[in-house]
Amino acid sequence: MARVHNFSAGPASMPLEVLEEAAAEFVEYGDAGMSVLEMSHRSSTYQAIIDQTEQSLRSLYSIPDNYDVLFLSGGATLQFAAVPLNLMKTGAADYLVTGNFAKKAWQEAQKYGDARLAATSQDSDFDRICDLSGFAPSDGADYVHICQNNTIYGTMYHELPETGDVPLVADVSSCFLSLPLDIERYGLLYAGAQKNAGPAGVTVIIVRHDLIEEGPALSICPSYLDYREQVKSGSMLNTPNTYGIYLCGKVFDWVSRTGGLEAMEKRNWDKVQPLYDLLDASEFYQAHAQKDSRSIANVTFKSPTPELDAAFVARCAERGIVNIKGHRAVGGMRASCYNAVSKQSIEALMDCMIEFEKEQA
Ligand SMILES: *Cc1c(COP(=O)(O)O)cnc(C)c1O
Repeated sequence: MARVHNFSAGPASMPLEVLEEAAAEFVEYGDAGMSVLEMSHRSSTYQAIIDQTEQSLRSLYSIPDNYDVLFLSGGATLQFAAVPLNLMKTGAADYLVTGNFAKKAWQEAQKYGDARLAATSQDSDFDRICDLSGFAPSDGADYVHICQNNTIYGTMYHELPETGDVPLVADVSSCFLSLPLDIERYGLLYAGAQKNAGPAGVTVIIVRHDLIEEGPALSICPSYLDYREQVKSGSMLNTPNTYGIYLCGKVFDWVSRTGGLEAMEKRNWDKVQPLYDLLDASEFYQAHAQKDSRSIANVTFKSPTPELDAAFVARCAERGIVNIKGHRAVGGMRASCYNAVSKQSIEALMDCMIEFEKEQA
């Protein structure tokens, strides 16, 4: 069985080179005489791996020294709770709800304080980012939370909201490593690794140190989610996802050796633009996301009927194009074109789309 064209939304396609490198050192890592899987997280060999992983990420994103980097577990979902537990100092925050995960983050935060709905695009089925001209944080908001790329609906912020002195907190799970980010525009960013950065089970958090140096806002905050404690212990308050972090390090190095984030962004837009052009030119397929809000990674679209959607997904499978079915909340199709998805895979998908459309005429 050859490797397929994998458009999975996450866990997603990984760079083949990374998989091969990891396979080559799977049983014996360097001269350690054991697999990374078998190593103590307290060993000097493992400490070197996690340190190098952090360094690689710092240099990719030019992360300033006053920002801490954490590699925790629990996915982006656990951060929906960790953020309010740590940062709701006066007890309120603004949430911009532009999709499913943005909404979940908002709902989770309501358990811990006054999580305010600052804007939403739910009325138009999350087909866009809300109009944020004139946006300002509400009185007393400790932070403003956004989901920067809406994985399920296929939309993305092309400009960040202006939040003044109020820290911007962003779930960047599905655009992390797809493009450069100006870290200083944010108070905190977090990303589940399984979209672009590595395997499921690692969550990367980048946080401005002054926001956490006094400890969590709420004393009920579980120790594991206490950012200050996790920083002090180097993401090792308990046993971290050692192998997952090691794989993330390999992906960071791959991004860097293939040209870095600017090159990655250009490659990604060059990959997805022809797909958006095809959708816009077609009377058969319809893109879900409005033009000014389109994602660099997740391309969502529909054919005229759910029956044809299903037939198209089946046709794709025959061509070795998999994980193309849309999320149940939107229906239709979703092509997640993360960093490791090649132009050839997208061309294969487009060929299949054209062929399928012709047959229906
Ligand atoms: C996948 C995803 C999540 C959920 O991630 P988990 O790691 O499963 O918790 C949250 N937010 C965004 C934007 C995502 O793409």
